[in-house]
Amino acid sequence: MTGLALSGKTALVTGGTRGIGRAIAARLLAEGAAVTVTGTRPEGAAPEGCAYEAVDFADAAASTDFAARMEGLGFDILVNNAGINKVAPFAEIATEDYLRIQQVNVTAPFLVTRAVVPGMVAKGWGRIVSIGSIWGLIGKEHRGSYCPTKFALDGMTVALAAEVAQFGVLVNCVAPGFIDTELTRTNLGEAGIAKLVAQVPVRRLGTPDEVAAFVAWLAGPENTFISGQTIAIDGGFTRV
Ligand code: NDP
Repeated sequence: MTGLALSGKTALVTGGTRGIGRAIAARLLAEGAAVTVTGTRPEGAAPEGCAYEAVDFADAAASTDFAARMEGLGFDILVNNAGINKVAPFAEIATEDYLRIQQVNVTAPFLVTRAVVPGMVAKGWGRIVSIGSIWGLIGKEHRGSYCPTKFALDGMTVALAAEVAQFGVLVNCVAPGFIDTELTRTNLGEAGIAKLVAQVPVRRLGTPDEVAAFVAWLAGPENTFISGQTIAIDGGFTRV
């Protein structure tokens, strides 16, 4: 017994090679959990100390196979983090892009969650945290393929939470706002970030570590009464 909050717990973090997922995996590990992360590459860059599984959630058959492999492994914590986005005017969204984003952001989390939840129910303890987005709480132009997927995670969260909270399994969704990742910097540039930050009450981007700290708390034993929620971590952006 190390005395760390998550010692003795096992966690699966999808998309744990970069950005927010990597910070979550590192945080769960630092708090004592044994962590498995996924990424798309055969030799993915998992944080040191994490086990690694390769899976491309855009591939329906690979997602089904992966979920089947996760069944019965007895994970205590699942973080559905892997997600993709493509910004486009609604009328120009290609059907294949729409379907790919649905597959990665909604169908894969459903398959993985369905695979691990019976084990959590059987042991009477589990924590599931899905990474949504503020674009799953409010809307924005050119997010016609992304918004529906993040609203869907809220739907999955409320439905599953209603079913399994009585068995000690708490299910939540965290909705990050503008987070300082490589993707955000590349997409927006310095000028874009400055403009955006002016609209955020905290007046800065969030960090992956801030999201990770909150996810780790929600996924840990100190969270005993929060379930079925989608909680924004956005510097106040969605409430002004
Ligand atoms: P990144 O693009 O930095 O990382 C994405 C992770 O998901 C990587 O580990 C990547 O693996 C994995 N991944 C990408 N495509 C697939 C796929 N087809 N199948 C399986 N895994 C895949 O993402 P972020 O850290 O920016 O975002 C993480 C989550 O947070 C997403 O769900 C996103 O929607 C959400 N979010 C992000 C915000 C932000 O500001 N960044 C704001 C709000 C929500 P690999 O390294 O192998 O490619």
